[in-house]
Amino acid sequence: MNLYNTMSRAVEEFSPLNGKKVGLYTCGPTVYNYAHIGNYRAYIFEDILRRVLTFAGYDVTQVMNLTDVDDKTIRGAIEAGVSLDDYTRTYKDAFFDDLKTLRIEPAEHYPAATGHVPEMIALIERLFENGVAYQSDDGSVYFNVSAYDDYGKLAHLDMAGLQAGARVAQDEYDKENVADFALWKAWDEADGDVAWESPWGRGRPGWHIECSAMSMKYLGESFDIHTGGVDNIFPHHENEIAQAQAATGKPFVQSWLHCEHLRVEGKKMAKSLCNFFTLRDLLEKGYTGREIRYLLLSAHYRQELNFTLSALDAARTALGRLDEFRTRLTENAEGDGGALPEWAAVGRDGFRAGVEDDLGMPNSLAALFDMVHKGNRALDAGEVDAAGAAAALAVLDEMDGVLALKPEAAAAGPDDAVQALLDERAAARSEKRWADSDRIRDELAAIGWEVRDTPEGQKLRSLS
Ligand code: AMP
Ligand code: ZN
Repeated sequence: MNLYNTMSRAVEEFSPLNGKKVGLYTCGPTVYNYAHIGNYRAYIFEDILRRVLTFAGYDVTQVMNLTDVDDKTIRGAIEAGVSLDDYTRTYKDAFFDDLKTLRIEPAEHYPAATGHVPEMIALIERLFENGVAYQSDDGSVYFNVSAYDDYGKLAHLDMAGLQAGARVAQDEYDKENVADFALWKAWDEADGDVAWESPWGRGRPGWHIECSAMSMKYLGESFDIHTGGVDNIFPHHENEIAQAQAATGKPFVQSWLHCEHLRVEGKKMAKSLCNFFTLRDLLEKGYTGREIRYLLLSAHYRQELNFTLSALDAARTALGRLDEFRTRLTENAEGDGGALPEWAAVGRDGFRAGVEDDLGMPNSLAALFDMVHKGNRALDAGEVDAAGAAAALAVLDEMDGVLALKPEAAAAGPDDAVQALLDERAAARSEKRWADSDRIRDELAAIGWEVRDTPEGQKLRSLS
C-alpha cells in the first residue's frame, strides 16, 4: 500500500513499525463551536484512511484528541457565563452525533486535553532537562527553537532569517512569524478560573504540547501515521515534532498525511471567514449524512474540493444509481455466492488498486461505477445467475467496508421490531392466516422493508 508522506513530499510504500499493527493519531476538533463541514472533510479523509488500512489487513489503533482548553474555548465559556466543562460538553456531544451521522467509525481513544495536563507537564519537564525549554519574565514557558536542530523539516522552513529570542504567545501564527512558541502559558485575567498548578506557577498548556503528550501516551514514543488538514502542517505539527523528538531523542512519526481544504467560492471554509456550513445546516436543507459523506470522500484527499449545493445534488444522484444496482442484485441473488462475474472481478480489483495507491478514491469510484454500468447491462441481458448476483453483492459489501454508503436500513440490518414482525408473519403463514400475513407484509413495507416469500422462507429487502 502506498501513501504520500508530507515529510518526504513523496509517495512511499507504507510499512508499519510493528508488523500489521498501525498507530494512527488524528488531530481532533477544538470544541468551542459546531464543527463545519470543512473539518468533516478532514475527519472523513481520516476515516477512509482507517478503513482502507483495515481493508488492506492492518490492525489500526486510532487516537483523536479533543482540544477542550485553548484561547477560543476559554473565551467562549467566559462569554457564555458557564464553566469551561459545561461549555465544551455541548460541542463534544454535537461532535459525536455528527460522527454517527457521517458514518465515521469511532476511534479507539478520544483523549481530552483537560484530562491530560499532568502528562503535558511531565513532557515539558523533560524539555527543560534537555535544555530546549525556558521560562520567560512573564512566567510563561517557551520552546527554544534555535536549540533544536531539526526544526522546520516538515514545513520546509528557511531558518536562516530566524530572530534569536523572539517569542510567539498565540497558538496559531504563520511562517513569517516563526519564533519560540508557548509550552505553558502563565495565568492571566483573560483565563478566568481556568488554571492548573505547575512547577512554573499557575497556568495552562499551549495547544501544541497536548498532541505530543497524548499521542505518545496512547501510541508510544514512535508511531506510524499522524494526520490533519494542511493548515496543521505549520505551526502545529512542526511544533509537535520538535516537542516529542527533543524530549525522547527518537523519531516521532513515520508518515505524515494531510488533506487539502474544502473551499467555498475559492476560499478555505473557515469559521473566521464566516463562509461555513455546519452539518446541521445541511441536514436542515434536507440532505442526508450519507450524501454529505459521499461528496466529501469523492475527491482525492490531496486535491482541493469546492463545495456547492449542486455537488450535493449530484451526490444524491450517484447514490441513487448505487442503491438501484444493489436492489437489482439483491432481487436476483440467491445462496452464498458462486463464480464472480467478470465485470465484478474487474470492479473489485480496480477499487482495491485505487484505494491502495495513496487513497485514490476517484479511481476507486470510477471502478465501482464501471462495475455498476457493466453489471446493469449484464442484468438487462439476463446474463447474471443467482449465484453470480450474490457474489457481486458480496463485492459491493466489501467495498462498502471502506465507503460506508449503503442505504440506511441495509446498513443497520433489520432491528428487533422488524424481526418480531417477521416471526409473527411466519407463524401466521404456517397457520394459513393469510389476511394476517398480508397485513404484516404491508406493515413492514410501511417501515421500509419489502418481504418476499421464497422456498427458503421469507426474504427481506431494504426499500430505503
Ligand atoms: P480545528 O477544530 O480548527 O482545530 O480543525 C480540526 C481539523 O479540521 C484540522 O485537522 C484542520 O486541519 C481541519 N480543517 C479545518 N478547516 C478545514 C477545511 N476548510 N477543509 C479541510 N479541513 C479543514
Ligand atoms: Zn493536534
